[in-house]
Amino acid sequence: MTDQENLLGSDGIPRFWYNIVPDLPKPPAASLHPATHKPVVADDLKRLFPEALIAQETSTERLIEIPEEIREIYGLWRPTPLHRAKRLEKALDTPAHIYYKYEGVSPSGSHKPNTAVPQAYYNKQAGIKRLAIESGAGQWGCALAFAARLFGIDVTVYMVKGNSQHKPYRRIAMETWGAKVISSPSEETAAGRAVLALDPESPGSLGIAMSEAAEDASNTADTNYALGSVLNHVVMHQTVIGIEAKEQLKALGESPNIVIACCGGGTNFGGLSFPFLADKLKGKEMRAIAVEPELCPTLTKGEFRYDLGDNAGLTPLLMMYTLGHDFMPPGIHAGGMRYHGVSPLVSHLFNEGLIEARSVQQSAVFEAGVMFARCEGIIPAPESAHAIRTVIDEALRCKEQKTQKTILFCLSGHGHFDMPSYDDYLTGNLHDHELPEEQLHAALSKLPHVEFRW
Ligand SMILES: *Cc1c(COP(=O)(O)O)cnc(C)c1O
Repeated sequence: MTDQENLLGSDGIPRFWYNIVPDLPKPPAASLHPATHKPVVADDLKRLFPEALIAQETSTERLIEIPEEIREIYGLWRPTPLHRAKRLEKALDTPAHIYYKYEGVSPSGSHKPNTAVPQAYYNKQAGIKRLAIESGAGQWGCALAFAARLFGIDVTVYMVKGNSQHKPYRRIAMETWGAKVISSPSEETAAGRAVLALDPESPGSLGIAMSEAAEDASNTADTNYALGSVLNHVVMHQTVIGIEAKEQLKALGESPNIVIACCGGGTNFGGLSFPFLADKLKGKEMRAIAVEPELCPTLTKGEFRYDLGDNAGLTPLLMMYTLGHDFMPPGIHAGGMRYHGVSPLVSHLFNEGLIEARSVQQSAVFEAGVMFARCEGIIPAPESAHAIRTVIDEALRCKEQKTQKTILFCLSGHGHFDMPSYDDYLTGNLHDHELPEEQLHAALSKLPHVEFRW
């Protein structure tokens, strides 16, 4: 989409998703089959995903029409509000204009339902009766539990045992929307039983939960798998954020100089920034900054190469910035930002020098989150507070340089389920560390060498 296009319906909700691929100067690298190292074909993915989503994953169409039934459900919370953070501007004494797109108004409190709803819709169309997924922090589980229920699809969530014990409220939310939540490792799958045979007290891990979900989905004909981040179709669904923001800013006579979002798997960043980058690709000047945790620095310290999208070996090999699929980040508080890789599209743009990346320490992130809450009222998710840290840094730079810039960021969710992490910060129990170099390189050195050039 460019400045000239208005992709919104009269209800203010987008009529299209934006696919950045055909606008890119150089096409991104193909995803490869993990065994043959040949570009994946639709058949490789059919055991896990419905055909419509596989088609979107590799689409070269610029605009993909959003089915009316999905737009109607989006209407439960979309368009989301665009706010100007005037009190924050004042507290910082900055000439910058700070705007944020607030995705925390969705039923599950984050941007994830933007993709959960279409994923449930296309699975329903394909006759799928149940979705099996893993859940770490629980945001994706909540979004999908809510969305699938609207289409009468059952959801089984394999939730890492440690998390379901420490964060019971997300489990209860999923169950309220009708999902079945199973503590992983479980007796339900061969993968789970194998772990329990070795260690009956195993606290589980995201990798184990993922193997359980994938085994369940691929062994059952009417059951599919669903991913809440990273893949191309997921980023594309999230472009409703940027498409709306662009029109909302235009109505105010503004256009952002800097667009900022936190970056876990890259979808709220891509969703907000891609519609603006469409103009940058046509020559308009603007910057987009992806912000990640210092302890999981995928873009800033990872390598651009082929790696598995998951530690169970299910997804194709993706060309992306990665820390290695075995990388286990330290237990940081932003559960949604512990992923070892980042969206291949975001990676490609970064490698082409079209976007910037920055990493920030936890205590600086929570300092920013608390400042935002005290100025604007909303308590941000720890993930979103990464973006706010960088917004504050950029706004202070504007003050120093006496320049007026317009900054737009994505407030990807609220922090109401993550209050224990704020408690740790407020009581002085949150500590910063450096990521040891050995840990950074250990997982990368184990990756297979892939002979493939595009
Ligand atoms: C999952 C999540 C993220 C990280 O995922 P992305 O794919 O990078 O957007 C960020 N913020 C919130 C609130 C989340 O739930």
